[in-house]
Amino acid sequence: MKALQYRRIGAAPEVVTVPDPQPGPGQVLLKVTAAGVCHSDIAVMSWPAEGFPYELPLTLGHEAVGAVAVLGDGVRGLREGDEVAVYGPWGCGTCAKCAEGKENYCLRAAELGIFPPGLGSPGAIAEYLLVDDARHLVPVDGLDPVATVPLTDAGLTPYHAVKRALPRLVPGSTAVVIGTGGLGHVAVQLLRAMSPARVIALDISEEKLALARAVGAHETVLSDGQAVGKVRDLTGGTGAEAVFDFVGAEATVRTAGAVVAVEGEVGIVGIGGGTLPVGFGSLPFEVSVTAPYWGSRGELIEVIGLARAGAVAVHTETYSLDEAPRAYERLHAGEVNGRAVIVPHG
Ligand code: NAD
Ligand code: ZN
Ligand code: ZN
Repeated sequence: MKALQYRRIGAAPEVVTVPDPQPGPGQVLLKVTAAGVCHSDIAVMSWPAEGFPYELPLTLGHEAVGAVAVLGDGVRGLREGDEVAVYGPWGCGTCAKCAEGKENYCLRAAELGIFPPGLGSPGAIAEYLLVDDARHLVPVDGLDPVATVPLTDAGLTPYHAVKRALPRLVPGSTAVVIGTGGLGHVAVQLLRAMSPARVIALDISEEKLALARAVGAHETVLSDGQAVGKVRDLTGGTGAEAVFDFVGAEATVRTAGAVVAVEGEVGIVGIGGGTLPVGFGSLPFEVSVTAPYWGSRGELIEVIGLARAGAVAVHTETYSLDEAPRAYERLHAGEVNGRAVIVPHG
C-alpha cells in the first residue's frame, strides 16, 4: 500500500510503498477514508537526531477515520464496513488513568513501548491503518469522514482544555484563544457551544482571524505588541477568565500570562517551547497554568456528539495521498486555513 513516511531526520516526508498491514489477534485493520494533518508533525520533523523518540521510517498521521476492512481474531462488536474514528493517544488500557478513559495520560505507555499512530506507531496517512484495539474506535455512522477526522485531535484536544475551564466561564466572562488554526478555530466553536463566555481570538494572520470571526469569535485581535493592551481594554481591564494558547511559543505564553484575570486559567496547548513562570507576583493572584495533552476516550465520544448536533463544523481542505507532502508544505508556511485532510482513496 501507499503511505506518507518521514524517513530521514530533517528531510521532507515522502509517499512510498510499504507492505500491507495484517491484523493480529484483537487488532482491527481500517481502510482509511480520511486522515488529518497536524502541526505537531511539523514539530516532530524539526527535532534533531539526538534523542529523537521514534523509529524511522515513520508513517505520519495521528487523526484517522476509516472503514473496518479486516477484524483480527477475537474482535467483537464491530463489523466489516463500519465507519469509525480512531482515538489516537493509545495507552495500556488497564492502569488507573486508562481505567478512567484517560489513555492520553497512561502511566505505563512509555514503559510498555505503546505509541499513538503516526507518533511512533505506523500512522493514518496511508491506504490502511492497523489499530491495536477495538476500544480505540468510535462509530461515526453517517458523519462525513473529512469533516469528522479533525475532531480526533483538533477537536478533542481543545475540547478537553475548554471543558476543564467551564466552571470559570460564567455569564459575563471572557475566553481568549491564541492561534486560530486547526485546533484554535475549533476551540472558538467549542467555547461558543459550551459556554456563555465572550470569545476573543488572536492570530498573526488576518485570514485566520476572518475564519475565527466566521466561526463565532466575538472579537479578533492581531497578535502583536499591542495585543495585550487591546485584550485588557476589551475586558474593561480585568483580563480573561480562561486563556487557551494554541501556539505555546515564548511570545504567546507571555501574552497569555499578561491577559489572564485574577483566579483565571491558562492552558498551554501549543508545543512551541515557551514557558510561563509561576510564582508569587509573577501572575495575577491564584491563576492556574496547565499544559494538557490530547483528551480522554469519553471526551472523543462527546466532541463527536457535539458535531452530530451541528455545534462544530471544521473548516477543511482536502488532498490526495500523492499530494500529502504539499499539505505539509502549506501547513509549514502557514497557508492552511482550518485543517488539511488527506483522502487516501480519492
Ligand atoms: P496550525 O498551524 O493549524 O495553527 C497554528 C495557528 O497559530 C496558525 O493560525 C498561526 O497563524 C497561529 N500563530 C502562529 N504564531 C502566532 C502568534 N505569535 N500569535 C498568535 N497566533 C499565532 O497548528 P495546529 O495543528 O492547530 O496546532 C497548534 C499547536 O498545538 C501546535 O503547536 C501543535 O503542535 C499543538 N498541538 C498540541 C496538542 C496537545 O495535545 N497539547 C495536540 C495537537 C496539537
Ligand atoms: Zn496533533
Ligand atoms: Zn494505561
